[in-house]
Amino acid sequence: MPVSRVSQQLIASLLLALSLLAWPTWAAAPLDAAGLQDQPVSLTAFVGLLEDPERRLTLADVQRPELAARFKTDLPATSALGLGFTRSAYWLRLPLRNSSASAVQRMLAVENPRISHIQAYIPNAQGDYQALVTGCDTPASTKVYANRNFIFPITLPAESEQVIYLRMESSIGLSIPLQLWAPEAFHAHERDDYFGQAWYFGIATAMILFNLMLLVSLRDRIYLLYVVFATCTFATLAIKNGLAPDLLPAGVPLNSNIFYYAGNSLALAAMLLFMRRMLGTQQLLPRTDRVVLAMVVVYLLTPVAYAIALPLFSKAAILLNLATAFLAIAVGVAAAVKRQRSAYFFLGAFALLMFGGAMTSLRAMGVMPTNLFTVDGLQLGSALEMLLLAFALADRYNVMRREKARVREQLLHAQQQLVHTLQTSERELEQRVAERTEELQVLNSKLETLSLTDALTGIANRRRFDDLLTQEWARAQRIGAPLALAIIDVDWFKPYNDNYGHPAGDACLRQIAQTLAATVSRSSDLVARYGGEEFVFLAPMTDAAGGQAMARKVVQAITALALPHAYSPLGHVSVSLGVVSVQPSAEQTPQALLQRADAALYQAKSQGRNQAVSG
Ligand code: GH3
Ligand code: MG
Ligand code: MG
Repeated sequence: MPVSRVSQQLIASLLLALSLLAWPTWAAAPLDAAGLQDQPVSLTAFVGLLEDPERRLTLADVQRPELAARFKTDLPATSALGLGFTRSAYWLRLPLRNSSASAVQRMLAVENPRISHIQAYIPNAQGDYQALVTGCDTPASTKVYANRNFIFPITLPAESEQVIYLRMESSIGLSIPLQLWAPEAFHAHERDDYFGQAWYFGIATAMILFNLMLLVSLRDRIYLLYVVFATCTFATLAIKNGLAPDLLPAGVPLNSNIFYYAGNSLALAAMLLFMRRMLGTQQLLPRTDRVVLAMVVVYLLTPVAYAIALPLFSKAAILLNLATAFLAIAVGVAAAVKRQRSAYFFLGAFALLMFGGAMTSLRAMGVMPTNLFTVDGLQLGSALEMLLLAFALADRYNVMRREKARVREQLLHAQQQLVHTLQTSERELEQRVAERTEELQVLNSKLETLSLTDALTGIANRRRFDDLLTQEWARAQRIGAPLALAIIDVDWFKPYNDNYGHPAGDACLRQIAQTLAATVSRSSDLVARYGGEEFVFLAPMTDAAGGQAMARKVVQAITALALPHAYSPLGHVSVSLGVVSVQPSAEQTPQALLQRADAALYQAKSQGRNQAVSG
């Protein structure tokens, strides 16, 4: 339909331009309606126009010669009379002629459903004027022809001339597109027109229902805002295009300009709320967000203002709409600059809507001519906008899903890392515990060695000796082997100490210990310091003869050491030993053996020292 309408309008404009070029002086002359066929004729150039600022003139008044002379007839040949925001009533005088030999039917079309009040005065067969009172601020039942626009069927008798008067008044901007059609051409045009409307409202209905389903299944409030926005836009455009039905019981015309302006306010408020949510302006642009909210509040209040005084506020409303367009675009640009992905879609969608809206607004103000793009621009923009925004919502959903997946992956990664870290630290801990345990074991064995070693001489101490004696005693008893043992005491050591000093005594004890260790050298034997200057040796699997031999070797080795001892009758350090050997049995004890050795030692001492005595 748009293509055929565009071409029709283009051809009509061309024809009009040609006719004006050819017969410029005919502008005020009656239009011959007889030749009309497929194309309409724009009547702007054929009408006379009279402004009635007081809105008091009647048909009889304007027919009076003094007023009839004031009708302006040199109007520019545009497609519509753009009268802007005016409170005046306007009278249009249209002389028509039928040069043919038969009566013709014509359709006088005022294709602007937004004119508040229209009175058409059309002569009947008797030549009397019949008043048809209609307009969008009156119920649709006042229309003589059921169409969203104002259509007046006219019958022109054969070879006749008649003058049609139209009175128009509007509470908003007044633009009067006036055309004359042949009925068949008009019906074709009407079908195209409704087809176009059906396209738009079909798309809008589908988008609303689809997003309503998405709202139910996804439960994201943005779909609710979309649905509210699209529904308000749907309703506003339905009113704007004269498609809204009347509220019959009260007779309130839903098509009225108050409802149109109020619907427009609600649609824009919903659009701003949708924009806030879609672009996340609360976080992204907190200060601008407050301006947006303030604007929403203003919009929600405007219906009251319109109800009170629409003519007063309608011009301001257009400015408010333009300000909203700038704000929306500014917010979109700011969000796009901040790399908000939805902002690109938003900008695209609203650029389309605003462009269409601006066209319509400028046409309403009389700045732009009436044509397909200025009349249906808003609708076309709105349909594209709805589609693009729905696409943006799908994209947003996709982005959110990807973001969710990314976060989940990050979380998983973090979790894995945590597990890894825990495992590592556990391993480290285990290793450290193992190291500590090993250190402790080394330390323990060191301590054990220390606890069994004599600090002064470095040979085994008495504890070690006692332990080993118990062990070897048991073993010897088990296997029935002999066990030899000797107590060794340094001779005249007190005088040594007293004369050479205690440190010298210690050094002497160390040398004796080394010599003993070297002399009693079998791996199974043990030499220990028993206490003070007394030593012992233990020789498992050694009988009395063996023990005595070992004891003698000890006496000799110490003598051979030849440590000077001026206070000993021998002149050198010497030792005495009490040596014993036994076949351990249950009746005997190690203590008894030691006592026997001690007794033998005592004997060695008393026999002159520097000798071993076996006991
Ligand atoms: P005897 O020939 O009868 O054994 O005479 P003695 O002087 O050796 O007498 P006794 O065995 O009773 O002497 C023990 C002395 O050994 C007493 C003390 O001065 C000395 N002595 C004991 N333990 C140590 C020690 O660890 N270091 C030093 N320097 N002297 C010690
Ligand atoms: Mg002693
Ligand atoms: Mg002694």
